[in-house]
Amino acid sequence: MKAVRVHETGGSDRLVYEETPAPSPATGQVLVRIRSIGVNFIDVYFRKGLYPAAVPFTPGMEASGVVEGLGEGVAGIMPGGRVAYAMTPGSYAEYAAVDSDKLITLPESIDFETASSVLLQGMTAHYLTRSTFPLKKGSTLLVHAAAGGVGLLLTQIAAFLGARVIATVSTDEKASLAREAGAEHVIVYSRTDFEAGVKEITGGTGVDVVFDSVGRDTFDRSLNCLKPRGTLVLFGQSSGPVPPVDPNILNSKGSLFLTRPGLAHYTATRAELVQRANDIFRWLADGVLKLRIDRIFPLRDASKAHDLLESRNSRGKVLLRP
Ligand code: NDP
Repeated sequence: MKAVRVHETGGSDRLVYEETPAPSPATGQVLVRIRSIGVNFIDVYFRKGLYPAAVPFTPGMEASGVVEGLGEGVAGIMPGGRVAYAMTPGSYAEYAAVDSDKLITLPESIDFETASSVLLQGMTAHYLTRSTFPLKKGSTLLVHAAAGGVGLLLTQIAAFLGARVIATVSTDEKASLAREAGAEHVIVYSRTDFEAGVKEITGGTGVDVVFDSVGRDTFDRSLNCLKPRGTLVLFGQSSGPVPPVDPNILNSKGSLFLTRPGLAHYTATRAELVQRANDIFRWLADGVLKLRIDRIFPLRDASKAHDLLESRNSRGKVLLRP
């Protein structure tokens, strides 16, 4: 089969499109013929070596496709079934062997591109707003990179839950997208200091929660945007990792809470995984969530997809097609 592989970590030119043996499903696994592949920022971290993986490896954590074959001991899944999955490495390929308990069966209303666009980022937005910091009507939140993949979904869910969204984005075009998604206030943080902006918008009070996926460039000021006893949810590092933090800072800035959550821990059980995925699919079917697919690249052009994500020019989801 054709796959994209990384033999040496580094720049996007290390994503090599090549022939490699197709996997065969082990006990409890399913062979999936991949139809659409979701590109996520975590793929960039692995490619760069920021997150460790033994080389060579096939990057990619998200895909949708058709069940092609079953390993021993798999029940309840039939060849020909339409499925999707997230957080299983190796999706930049024509086939993947995936643990059957990680697969979500697609409802009729969800096509392959939609599934590989919303599963990982949608379940992330779901757990952040429903479990890490359960938003209530009237909660005030700050979300960075609000026109990105996770950002647009998180903004829509927060607005749906009745929370007041303050969003940051880097361009005016992205500001329009964040507003359309339901943000009440948008700060273009490439030209305006977002800390001052949040103080002004909240009359000096600060927000209940900050969802920060940008990391190094925003972390310190994100803490300064919180109310006393507010929560900083650091869930990514698009601008680079945050240096070590002295826990006393949480006290001096107002008895703050800091958490660094990951999707795997919030989809740890089959029941939780299925519930989050089905909520996302239902919200799409009901029109609560609108999906924005930015670009679809052929699998052989995975490096262009990474360049787009890293250039900050993507708006919404980036996909690969095998
Ligand atoms: P995005 O579509 O959000 O793309 C990244 C965005 O980050 C850019 O568009 C840009 O928006 C912003 N950004 C700010 N500074 C930089 C920089 N120096 N370089 C590049 N981008 C920058 O990506 P995803 O939706 O795939 O992921 C968003 C974040 O969420 C990532 O950090 C990812 O790791 C994290 N994540 C975490 C999960 C978890 O469970 N912990 C799960 C899924 C994703 P702008 O131009 O508006 O600043």
